[in-house]
Amino acid sequence: MNQESAVVVGGGICGLVAALLLKKNYKEVTIIEQSTEVGGLFRSVSDSEGVRYDMGSHIPNSTGIDDIDSLLFPKNEIEKNWNVIPELKSGNYFFGSWDLESPFPDGRKIDPAHYATACGELVGLADLSSNPLIYYYCLETLGPIFTHTIILPILQKLYGQNVDYKSLTMDAGLFGFTRILALPRDVAAKLKELPAFDAKLGYQNKTDFLLRMQREPRISPTYFYPNGNKSVECLISILKDQIHEQGIVIRTSTSVDKINVEGTEVKSIALNEVAEAVKCDLLFWSAPPFLALKAMDIPTPASKVVLRTAVIFHLNFDLALLDTQSHYLWVWEHSTSIFRLTLYPNLHGSVKYNNLSVEILCAPNEVDQFIVEDIVKELQDMGIVSEQAALISHVKQIEHNTFPVPTTAFSQNSKYNYDKLCESVDNIIVSGRYGGKCWRQADVLVDAYNSIKAIE
Ligand SMILES: Cc1cc2nc3c(=O)[nH]c(=O)nc-3n(C[C@H](O)[C@H](O)[C@H](O)COP(=O)(O)OP(=O)(O)OC[C@H]3O[C@@H](n4cnc5c(N)ncnc54)[C@H](O)[C@@H]3O)c2cc1C
Repeated sequence: MNQESAVVVGGGICGLVAALLLKKNYKEVTIIEQSTEVGGLFRSVSDSEGVRYDMGSHIPNSTGIDDIDSLLFPKNEIEKNWNVIPELKSGNYFFGSWDLESPFPDGRKIDPAHYATACGELVGLADLSSNPLIYYYCLETLGPIFTHTIILPILQKLYGQNVDYKSLTMDAGLFGFTRILALPRDVAAKLKELPAFDAKLGYQNKTDFLLRMQREPRISPTYFYPNGNKSVECLISILKDQIHEQGIVIRTSTSVDKINVEGTEVKSIALNEVAEAVKCDLLFWSAPPFLALKAMDIPTPASKVVLRTAVIFHLNFDLALLDTQSHYLWVWEHSTSIFRLTLYPNLHGSVKYNNLSVEILCAPNEVDQFIVEDIVKELQDMGIVSEQAALISHVKQIEHNTFPVPTTAFSQNSKYNYDKLCESVDNIIVSGRYGGKCWRQADVLVDAYNSIKAIE
């Protein structure tokens, strides 16, 4: 045992995994979580009928790093807990119809009067743009027509009608919609052999994709979903069991008042309503970095961060969902605010309930605009729920501070706070989705793992 005490701030999946990794080298590890429960975006909710739904993230996947995967998906417990999903199935709804073969918006659905010109623009742009701003990147790769008819309305749907879309960085395309379907199928498949076209065109059917995989095999992650009527919070229970076994202390409903620093070393952490400061030889910070700077009395730049609120309707019907294949679906259609659907029966691999979650992003003051009756009607109009189906039970969840509006000002602000925190003290690791380096579950955990390895 080399060190005495590590403190982990933030009890989301990143903080929980980090605590277990740190326990190998630290005698005492304490997790500080401001909410009443740990789990962050991997928590779940139940409706009045006891049906479970996920509150944020849905389908955890392996990272390829055994030290992490063995914590998340212990081999001897896989059968007990998880439905293993070797291939994640997703499709998308766009211009009034479903495409269950591809997650990417289909340019062939735009007004036929403009389609040929749009394809000409796309083919003429043979170099891969390195523009860091998404609007200009799309102009330089997809051309003006596809950018204005497909991409811009999606950006406005996700980040707000009045968003300064010209200042959005490539992070705004985190769901991958900057790749589209266009051109005849065989032409698109051939062009995808060139990197610039591979980056902007999707395969139009599974066969073309599988042929590519045969030519260039890749290791893809394994996806998992809890079996039975468990929800993704199962992952948190698995981690919590190990945390308790290891004697790691979890303090919920607790926040950091002050970080006590001597020279360039964090020495202890003063907590709200706890008289004695917690000794700290290493601080692992997965909460927003500006809060750590504040707790060290280091000035932060005026905040330019705008965070989107997620409104999630969790719905349970009396009849089966009409899509019995897809695990989740994108809704790129411009006329609805819905952007993603998660179909639980297909994730569980069994039909105990006919339940799904419907995600919408909006400004905090817009949450009352969305009502369950309208959402059910939209799902019926889209043909995902039968016209005859009745809603048995539901929950409307409102989750503030989910996705940042990724403007250049946001990136600069995040980078400043991250750099400032890392350079202010030596014994700190800044990680997690708030660290700003990555966002997806597996990437966040790999980043935490590498950061911990680097100081061992
Ligand atoms: C709606 C939504 C859907 C998503 N879907 C996917 C997906 O399909 N696939 C995927 O890979 N990723 C997805 N993600 C991203 C995924 O949820 C994150 O990668 C993951 O949750 C990051 O874990 P984290 O611990 O860094 O952050 P979080 O889960 O946000 O946890 C941070 C924790 O820190 C706590 N905290 C904050 N401030 C303080 C403080 N001052 N003091 C103490 N504690 C504090 C919070 O309460 C929280 O518990 C999704 C995210 C959202 C918002």
